[in-house]
Order: sequence, then C-alpha cells, then structure tokens
Amino acid sequence: MGSRDAPSIQAAVPSVDRVLRLTAVQSLIETHGRRVATEAVRAVLDDLRRRLSVEGEAARPLTTQEAIADRVRETIEARSAPSLGAVFNLTGTVLHTNLGRAVLPPEAIAAVAAAAGAPCNLEYDLDAGRRGERDGHVEDLLVRLSGAEAACAVNNNAAAVLVTLNTLALRKEVAVSRGELIEIGGSFRMPDIMARAGCRLREVGATNRTHAKDYTAAVGPRTALFMKVHTSNYTVEGFSAAVPVGELAALARDHGVALVVDLGSGTLIDLARYGLAHEPTVAETLAQGADLVTFSCDKLLGGPQAGVIAGRADLVRRIRRNPMKRAMRCDKMTIAALAQVLRLHGDPDRLAERLPTLRHLSRPAEEIEAQARRLAPALAGCLAEKATIAVAPCQSQIGSGALPVERLPSAALVIRPATGKRGSGAALKRIARALRGLPVPVIGRIHDGACVLDLRCLEDEAAFADQLVHLRPA
Ligand SMILES: *Cc1c(COP(=O)(O)O)cnc(C)c1O
Repeated sequence: MGSRDAPSIQAAVPSVDRVLRLTAVQSLIETHGRRVATEAVRAVLDDLRRRLSVEGEAARPLTTQEAIADRVRETIEARSAPSLGAVFNLTGTVLHTNLGRAVLPPEAIAAVAAAAGAPCNLEYDLDAGRRGERDGHVEDLLVRLSGAEAACAVNNNAAAVLVTLNTLALRKEVAVSRGELIEIGGSFRMPDIMARAGCRLREVGATNRTHAKDYTAAVGPRTALFMKVHTSNYTVEGFSAAVPVGELAALARDHGVALVVDLGSGTLIDLARYGLAHEPTVAETLAQGADLVTFSCDKLLGGPQAGVIAGRADLVRRIRRNPMKRAMRCDKMTIAALAQVLRLHGDPDRLAERLPTLRHLSRPAEEIEAQARRLAPALAGCLAEKATIAVAPCQSQIGSGALPVERLPSAALVIRPATGKRGSGAALKRIARALRGLPVPVIGRIHDGACVLDLRCLEDEAAFADQLVHLRPA
C-alpha cells in the first residue's frame, strides 16, 4: 500500500516552521501569540500524520496549505474560547448546582468587579489605618439579619460544617439522629465529614424516629456536641419523630454540650411572605436555642458560593482561631458579593424584585405561561418539520436540596420530535444537542419522550428568541 508508506506521508506533511511562515498563520500569531500558534500547528500536523497513516490517500486533501491553515485557525479558536460561560437554565430547577446555583443581583456583580479590579480594603481598617478583618464586611450584616452574637464566612457550607466540627469536637463525640445522616450530591456525607473533621459520630435513635431520651442515652464523658442536620434533600414521612430545635437545645444545655444546627440552605427571611413554603430561618433557629447554625449562601440566600457560621460569640471566636478556617477563608470577590446580597435582605419588601433567585422562585405560573405562548411560534418556525412545539403546564423545583418536596407550578415549551418510524430517541437527543449548541446554550430536561424547556428562569426573552435562528438540529 504505497499510500500508507511512511516516507510518502512524511513528504506530504510540511514542517512546523513552514506552516508558521504562511501568511494566514502569521496573522494568527499576531492575534494570539507565537506560542499558542506553534502549539496549534504541532497538534494539527500530528493529527494530519495520524490521519494519513489511517486513511492514506483519502486524507491527501487535508495536506494543502489552505486546509492546514484553516485547521490551525479552528484549533486556536476552540482553545482560546472560555470554557465557562452563560447558559439559559430552562431545566426547571432554579438553584441548579451544575449550572452555578444562584444568579447574582447587579449590585453584587458591581461590587465583585470593583473589588477584583483594584486593591481594596479587604483586611484593612480605613478608620484606624491598620489591619482589619475580612469577615468584618459581612459580620455586622449577618448579626443584624439573624440576631446572632457573631458570625464568620468560609467557602461553602460543607466547609462551615467541617471547621465547626473540627474546632468544637476534635477527638470527641457528636450525637446525630440516624434520620439526619444525610448525603448531599458531590460526596458530602455527614459520617464522612465527621471522620475528616476528627470527630466520632454517635448515631442516635432510628432512621424514622428519634426521641429526646435517645440523645440523653448517647451522652457520655466524650460528648462535645449535639448536631441537628436539616434534611434538606428528602423528607421522612409517615411514622416519624424528631426532636425540635428548642427541645434539643434545652437538653444540650442540661448536659453541658453545645447544639449545632446545619440548616443546609438556610434563609434569613420567612419565605412564606413570597408564597413559598416556610423554611426554618437562621433567626428562628438561633432564637430556639441553637448555639451555632451553619448555612449556604448560594442556595435560598441567592448569593455567591459561601458558607456562614453564626451564633455564640465565644464559639465563633474559637472557630476563627482554627488554622483550618484560614484554609477555607473567602476570597475578596465572594465577600464583596455576599455583603451586597445581605444588604438587599435588609429590605424584604423589595427583595423579590431585586434578588434573582427569589424573583425566579416567586414568578407566577400565568406569567410564565404567557411567555411560553409568545415564544412557541418562533421556536416552531425554527424547528419546522423536525418537531412539534406545545405549551404545557409543568412543575419547577427549587433545587440544591432546598425545600425538596415543594413544587412550583410553571409552564414549559415542550418539543417533541416529529414522529418518524423509529429512532425518535435519537431525534430527541439531536434536538437537545442543537439547543446546547446555540451561542448561549439552552439547557432543558428530557421527560417522557420530549425536550421540556421550563421558562421559570428565562429573563432575557429577547436574547433567547433572537438566537433561535441558529437552531439547526442535524
Ligand atoms: C447543601 C447542604 C450542605 C452543603 O452546602 P454547600 O454550600 O453546598 O457546601 C450541607 N448541609 C446541608 C444540610 C445542605 O443542604
């Protein structure tokens, strides 16, 4: 097979230097730099050699100067485009961990940009002219909103739980109900976290029922904490019992141990005022006697990824002194965003307008349905014979393990592949792929043989509609 003969392949592939001297490649060097261009040329030529050896003469057209320069340009463009970018979250899960959870309000985005683009007083006390506290930018706000004596922030709630346990219960025992030994996605399992924090988990009660006497029976000389974990991504229903925070707090005091409550999502305001189910607030939990609470900032709080520890000042002080806290400290951009989100919480009357998470969660189904009706014809036009479009009611969920059984009535564009003889599963995949391939990728969910686009989180309707012309399912 002459075409697979090594010397003839070598002859067909130009040298790296020759490709770099091509006019088209010279202009790529000017835009992207010599190093990026050289790496791309190497990759393209390696690929070319491989294809020539596999495909032989069939790959010959790829060896022209134009073809090589085109491939180099494509390679550079693919490599220089950011891999992280905006998408339309039409999954119906408002706080979607895979899609970055909470969308920040403009006030927070501006604060992030300001803190990121210049030196800032992150740990500098401008009044005194000396070193300050990075948590100081959020602590007063947290204290005012929750009634806590003190508070500090770390990178996420998993870190908050870890550093709290490690500080207060190292080599000691922590009593937790068997009904609350949660796993949250991404390998956060309470028993594993306990082990990594250096504590001994003392399981209390049964999966469905735990009583005060079970905690009492578990107390021994090594008991440091009672811990209550909000079962944020499931519910225990039927024949079940748990000890409420107030009662558990009193019991903890009687035994001289502290009570830590991991609220999971945590909210600083009563969500019932926005038409959502009541979720225990940080203030309520502290008022009921918890010594410390931990919660996420990018779940119902609608802020950046962070975790807060709030409660007794002496305990927060001990946590601050733990070197582990230093390893988990928040970045300036996070502090900037969190402070602004907390400021918005100071005005609950306007929070549902100003905080995107709450705005999405409280959007009325009729409004979403009207939006779906406006968009359906354009989508139908773009998919022509490939699919049919219907507007249908659907149910959104909050996501990220907040209010797990709560469903929010919503409306969706339901895309069904035009029923061919077979392979409609493949047709559905092609449609979903085409939606993901749009300039701003559209992420829906596949349900019951259709691609469902829940419009609850669609704010920029014009941007969504304008890009539909690019929709080209293969
Ligand atoms: C979500 C959650 C966590 C983890 O919070 P992250 O901020 O995602 O690290 C911990 N505990 C509970 C109960 C949760 O719901």
